[in-house]
Amino acid sequence: MDHRIIHKQPRPGGAFELQDYERIRAEFTWDEARSRLAGLPGGGLNMGYEAVDRQVAAGLGGREALRCVAADDTVTHISYGELACLTGRFANALTAMGVARQEMVFTLLGRCPELYATVLGTLRSARVLCPLFSAFGPEPVRQRLELGDARVLVTTEELYWRKVEENRHRLPRLDRVLLVGPVKDPPPGTVSFAEVMKQASQEYTVPPTDPGDMALLHFTSGTTGTPKGAVHVHEAVVAHHATVAFALDLRPGDVYWCTADPGWVTGTSYGIIAPLTHGVTLVVDEGDFDVHRWYRILDNQKVTVWYTAPTAIRMLMRATPRNGTRQLPGPYDLSALRFIASVGEPLNPEAVLWGQDVLGLPIHDNWWQTETGAIMIANFASSDIRPGSMGRPLPGVEAGLLARGEDGRAEVTDGHVHVIGEPGIEGELALRPGWPSMFRGYLHEEARYAACFADGWYLTGDLAKRDQDGWFWFVGRADDVIKSAGHLIGPFEVESALMEHPAVAEAGVIGRPDPVVGAVVKAYVSLRPGHAPDTHLKRELLAFARRRLGPAVAPREIEFEQNLPRTRSGKVMRRVLRAREMGLPEGDLSTVESLG
Ligand code: ATP
Ligand code: MG
Repeated sequence: MDHRIIHKQPRPGGAFELQDYERIRAEFTWDEARSRLAGLPGGGLNMGYEAVDRQVAAGLGGREALRCVAADDTVTHISYGELACLTGRFANALTAMGVARQEMVFTLLGRCPELYATVLGTLRSARVLCPLFSAFGPEPVRQRLELGDARVLVTTEELYWRKVEENRHRLPRLDRVLLVGPVKDPPPGTVSFAEVMKQASQEYTVPPTDPGDMALLHFTSGTTGTPKGAVHVHEAVVAHHATVAFALDLRPGDVYWCTADPGWVTGTSYGIIAPLTHGVTLVVDEGDFDVHRWYRILDNQKVTVWYTAPTAIRMLMRATPRNGTRQLPGPYDLSALRFIASVGEPLNPEAVLWGQDVLGLPIHDNWWQTETGAIMIANFASSDIRPGSMGRPLPGVEAGLLARGEDGRAEVTDGHVHVIGEPGIEGELALRPGWPSMFRGYLHEEARYAACFADGWYLTGDLAKRDQDGWFWFVGRADDVIKSAGHLIGPFEVESALMEHPAVAEAGVIGRPDPVVGAVVKAYVSLRPGHAPDTHLKRELLAFARRRLGPAVAPREIEFEQNLPRTRSGKVMRRVLRAREMGLPEGDLSTVESLG
């Protein structure tokens, strides 16, 4: 555990004061959180209504909802009122096409305005949204369309030709394909999105929606195996609304930028729904990642709250001169920024401190999963940060650590688990079901869903420990933890230590099976520019890690690898490194981005 605590000043007016943590937790109820939303006029609850209709009804129709920054930096503004019209049109268009209530609408789109019309039109009309990552290749797209029995898909002509057309004959149910953008001559079996929209009315009344009606189908990242389709319901919006204020400090008047792709749960739940329910302005970047582009957006758009991912932070770190001065790589003014958070992977302490030094703000790590549907554990705006810790459970969230059995997962004996009481002991992270955004199933996989629960807990598959003050520290995924000479080693700890060395950009750590010690800790390391992958550096890194971690935990072997295999959402895939190491098939690679 890292002890370089970042102290915060008490901040009156913040959503959460450090000294109030216990009190707020004690007083909080999900019912009370629900009462902060409008609900449908006739009863019921609808995500799309809370994001759009409620703001318009409250007189905020003229307020800027989306600020779309195109690849060439031109900016388009869309107000809440315009969003109501666009989404109303799309909802009516679906009805005209015979798409029933609760039927699924798939998207394979970048962050264009039509994506927002589709997402929110689908939700407002009580249909089910399933966003797909637009950088997927044809096979993962086909797999997911097939798994979801897709009938309706919204994409672009280019993506259609590249990723759907070749498999169309294998998707006989897919009979409504809408193409966004200029389509002169729609390919067979497709229609123009713009045409369909033109013919539909913008007037729309949200139909009765039950809080338990299905709203979203989100596929997991596929980091540890085949992606699973997690089912979420409209009631999840209660958690979206409450947690974005608690964990991301979102307030009225904010300019908010979530960099996650809308093909993943973060990009939809915190990239679209949660912030809109607070009536803030979203920055929508239609371009690709580029260090200077990102700093330019933060500066030009005066972003106040920024939600991003550890890999993105590490890419920005790579571009920071490491000559002792630690400066931004240009004359950017980030003074509007008030809060930065990240999610998706462990955030190494070095990255938290880099934020403090270079961006002027520390980065607040938070933890959740596709299955939890909302942030569960977080570092709060007004709480001290212990770099390397993912923070503390949100109000309404009860987290526990369960003692592990032989297979590394929580041990269940006669239906019972053992909840670890003492600090500092690793266990499987578990949550008490009952929060509104909890997934309600894995599509077509009942047994897999049932296996996630034991003795009144939801088992997350992640390992963590808790310190004596209640801060949680991520250890690793149960599947990734290394058993070496009787020690349990979390890859994150080893990776973090290596990343403190100035030559190291990123690291992926696995256990290489060994007949004597069980597993030998092996690190794959990518280097920052200007460092040569030679034996001298290898020796230096081995010694550096040994000094930091001690001989029992430090890696025995280091291999340089500039292209670590990662999921499309940016997570290092240790299972692929392990398979390679052992000469085994690499398994489901549908979500791999780079295979060096
Ligand atoms: P799959 O379930 O298909 O293997 P995945 O678990 O990567 O993929 P997601 O639901 O996108 O799919 O990711 C959730 C997981 O990401 C968590 O269970 C955890 O392992 C990791 N994670 C998320 N946030 C953090 C964090 N702050 N620190 C460490 N790990 C995190
Ligand atoms: Mg998972």
